[in-house]
Amino acid sequence: MLADLACTCERCDAPLDDDHLRLTMESAGGVRHAYECDCGAVTIAVSEPGTI
Ligand SMILES: [Zn+2]
Repeated sequence: MLADLACTCERCDAPLDDDHLRLTMESAGGVRHAYECDCGAVTIAVSEPGTI
């Protein structure tokens, strides 16, 4: 499964893919991906390190 790479908008449940990816941040806790939905909401998804 590629669940880590596909998330949905917190507000409207629309699927968010790479076209909506606006920001990627890496820290000790993992990699954060910030997705901006067409509705304007920003959803943060976290990928655990080492799950590639
Ligand atoms: Zn949305």
